This record gives sequence, structure tokens and C-alpha cells, in this order.
Amino acid sequence: MRLLILGGTSEARELAVELVATGIDVTTSLAGRVARPRLPVGEVRIGGFGGVPGLRSALVDYDAVVDATHPFAVGMSANAAACTDIPLLRLARPGWSVDPTWHRVETHAQAAVAAARLGQRPLLTIGRQQLAQFVPALGERPVLARVVDVPTLDLPPAWELITDRGPYALDDELALLARHRTDVLVTKDSGGTYTWPKMAAAAQLGVAVVIVDRPPGPDDVPTVPTVTAAVAWVKELL
Ligand code: NAP
Repeated sequence: MRLLILGGTSEARELAVELVATGIDVTTSLAGRVARPRLPVGEVRIGGFGGVPGLRSALVDYDAVVDATHPFAVGMSANAAACTDIPLLRLARPGWSVDPTWHRVETHAQAAVAAARLGQRPLLTIGRQQLAQFVPALGERPVLARVVDVPTLDLPPAWELITDRGPYALDDELALLARHRTDVLVTKDSGGTYTWPKMAAAAQLGVAVVIVDRPPGPDDVPTVPTVTAAVAWVKELL
């Protein structure tokens, strides 16, 4: 059994650990977006496949695929779903339980407008690729933007950038929000525990939350919410 995991998440790394331990030949694919990625166990390949045709060609080397990419990585998931000649499972961690006080939006552009309405000192935790969408509405505000890697975008002079990556602790998130005097937190519904403490900190401090809802996942792809269930699916194939 040669398994390809489409990775970039903690679940993908956990799945690789479980499957390598059972003797399965696992390769994890990473997009190459992060300068120093946390590398999973097993084989690793880095970089795009070249759309659906490139992915189809690459899949001749594998017997099955688990798409464990981030819930917002819809392009990669759609490409995988288009390759119907190979067993495919989607491993998608559940979204966070919705808090009725959150301001839910569908797009990052809507999140920018909502944040401008709700606060003066936004904290953006939406990833560096989305930052440009926040400049029109928030370019003049004292934004604190937290990203994993420094963006190529020239940030407005009023903005402060910090580079960091989870998992985060509640005390640190409370200190960060207090230091910046954040009055609105902008995030996306990543789910999971790694980045949850900022949500708890915002609730504790009465900071408004703008959250971008998840895009719909691929149709007709069997989907499981946990690593355990993904391991069971792979073992069933064996
Ligand atoms: P995306 O928009 O869905 O993907 C764009 C293109 O990047 C894909 O068509 C593919 O290029 C390449 N790609 C994406 N994931 C790949 C993978 N695991 N292995 C090889 N190529 C991959 O993806 P994205 O939102 O930019 O996310 C990129 C990666 O970061 C994903 O692997 C995801 O798990 C991880 N990540 C994303 C987020 C997020 O918020 N989007 C957060 C945390 C982690 P080709 O068409 O050339 O194959």
C-alpha cells in the first residue's frame, strides 16, 4: 500500500505517524508555502503538482490518497476530488462550535469591512496570503497582523507584523490582546485546538470576533473528522 497524504495540517502529520507505525508506505505532500515547515514522518514531497493533470500523473505511484489539507485549501481539495481513478478520503477537522456573539462572514473582503465597523485596533490572524484584502478597509488603523512567514506585501505604515505559529497558550493570547489593546479579532473557522486560545482570550476580554466561515468542501468525497477514522479507512483498504 502506497499512500499519498495531502498535508499542511497537524492532522496530516498525526496520520503519517499512525500509518508509518503500521508499516504503510506513506508520502506526505506539502505545498511549499511555509519557509520552515514542520516535516511529517515518512516520505515528503514539496511543491504543487501542476493542477489536475499533474496530480493525475503523480497518482500513478500511489494506491490511495488522504486529502488532509486545511479546510480553506479548497483548490487542492478540488483537484484531488477530480482524480476519480483512485480511492480518496477527505480528513477535515470539524469547525468550531459557533458562538452567537461572533460576526460571521463568507469572505475575507467582508471580514475587513466588518472589522472596520466593529473596532479601531484589529488583530488579523487570517494568514499572510489574505492580508492584501484588508488594506482597503483597515490600511489607516493600527492593525496587528500575526502570520507564520513575512508576507511579500508592503504593509501600511500603521500596521505591526508579528511572525509566530501555534499551538498558542491562553495566557500568551491574553497578553497579546492586552498589549495591542485589540478591540476586534479577525480569524477564519480553522477549527482544532492549536489556534483556539485566541478565541477564548477574546471572549474573556470582551473583544469582538469576526470569523470567516468555511468554504464548502468537495462534493461526493467521503469525509471523516478524525485521524482515527482516517486510519480505519486506510486499514479497510488493506
Ligand atoms: P490551495 O489554494 O487549495 O492550493 C493552491 C495550489 O497549491 C494547489 O492547486 C496546488 O498546486 C498547491 N498545493 C496546495 N496544497 C498542496 C499540497 N498539500 N501539496 C502539494 N501542492 C499543494 O491551498 P492554500 O490555501 O494555498 O494552502 C496551501 C497549503 O497550506 C495546503 O497544503 C494547506 O493544507 C496548508 N494550509 C493552508 C491554510 C489556509 O488557510 N489556506 C492554513 C494552514 C495550512 P498545483 O495545482 O500545482 O498542484
